Amino acid sequence: MPIRRALEHVEPYRPQPPLRRLQAELGLKRLVKLASNEGPFGPLPAAVAAFQGSTLELNRYPDGGGARLREELASRYVVPPEQIVLGNGADELIRFAAIATLDPGDRAVYPWPSFQSYPTAVAAAAGQSTAVALRDRAVDLDALLDACADAKLVYLANPNNPTGTLLARDQITRFVQALPPSLLCVLDEAYAEYAEDEPAGVDLVREGNEQVCVLRTFSKVYGLAALRIGYAIASPQVADALNRVRPIFNVNQPAQEAALASLHETDAVRRRIVHTRAARDQLYETLALAGLEPVRSHANFVYADVPDGDADGLAERLLHTGFVVRALRGFGAPGAIRVSVGTDEEMRLFAAALPELTR
Ligand code: PMP
Repeated sequence: MPIRRALEHVEPYRPQPPLRRLQAELGLKRLVKLASNEGPFGPLPAAVAAFQGSTLELNRYPDGGGARLREELASRYVVPPEQIVLGNGADELIRFAAIATLDPGDRAVYPWPSFQSYPTAVAAAAGQSTAVALRDRAVDLDALLDACADAKLVYLANPNNPTGTLLARDQITRFVQALPPSLLCVLDEAYAEYAEDEPAGVDLVREGNEQVCVLRTFSKVYGLAALRIGYAIASPQVADALNRVRPIFNVNQPAQEAALASLHETDAVRRRIVHTRAARDQLYETLALAGLEPVRSHANFVYADVPDGDADGLAERLLHTGFVVRALRGFGAPGAIRVSVGTDEEMRLFAAALPELTR
C-alpha cells in the first residue's frame, strides 16, 4: 500500500466504546460522563428549533461560505467577515493550521501536556514536533519561545487542556511580540468563555497582528459538540491560507443554523458560565478532599495528580462505580486524571463516590 511514511508517526485515535454499550457491559444503572469536557447541558432551545427548521433542506449542500454565521461572528468580534473561517469543530482548524504552514520536515511546537490533536495534526502534515514540558504544571513561555526559533507553527491552548491553567493577557502579548515573524501562532481558546479574564487572542488579531490565529468552538458552553462546529479568527492572510486547505462543505447547515441561533442566547449562556465556574471550584475541593492534588482551573474541567501515581487504576475504579473520567497517559501525564464539570447532581454523586476509591 502506498501509504506516506509520515503516517507511521501518527498515533491512531482509540475511541472508547459507545457509552450505552459500556454501561451494559459493566452492568451499571447509570454511567456519568465526565471525560470529554463537553458542556453537561443540552443545546439551547433556540438552537434545537433552528436545527429542526433546517432538516427539510437536508437535500441541499450547506452554504460553503458560512455567510450568515460568519457575518454574525464578525459583528460580535468587530472584525471583517473575511477574517473568520469556520471549521468542523476547532479540531479541524488545528489540522488546517498544520497543513497550511508545514512543508515536510518543518517544525511545530506546543507545550506538553496539552491537547492531543496538536501532535497528530503535525505528524499528519509530515512535520516535526517539539513538545515543551510544562513547569510546575503551567506553560513555560520562555522555553516555548526558545523552541519557536526554528519553527513554522506554535499551538498554545489558553486555557490549557488538560491542566486548565490560563496565561494572562500581558504574558500572551509579550510572547506574541517576541515570536519570529515567519511563524504562525495558533491561540487555541476553546475554553475561553469559562475564564474570568477574557484571553488575549481576539484583541491581538483586531490590533492587526498578522501571525495570530485564534480558535473558538460551539462544542462547550453552547452544547453543540455533536454537530462539530468551531471557528478561527485571524488576519486576512492567515484566513486565506486556511480557506485554501478547507473542503468547501466542511460545516453542515444544521450546525450553522444551530450555532447562529445560539449566539443570540446571551442570558442563558451567561447562566451556564456562572454555574460552571462555581461547580468547577467545588470540584477542585472534592478532588483535594479525596487526597488528590488538583490544579486551579479556568476551564470546565479540573486536572489532578493522583497521589500513588496510578491514574489508570483510579479511572478504572471510577468507571466500575459509574463515572467516566480521563486518565491522562495519552496527554503526557500518566499520573493524573482530568474530570469535566457535570450537572449539580452528577457532581454530588461524584463527590460522594470518590473518597472510597482513593483510600
Ligand atoms: N482545542 C482544545 C484545547 C480542546 O480541548 C478541544 C476539545 N476537546 C478542541 C480544541 C476541539 O474542539 P471542537 O469540539 O470544536 O473540535
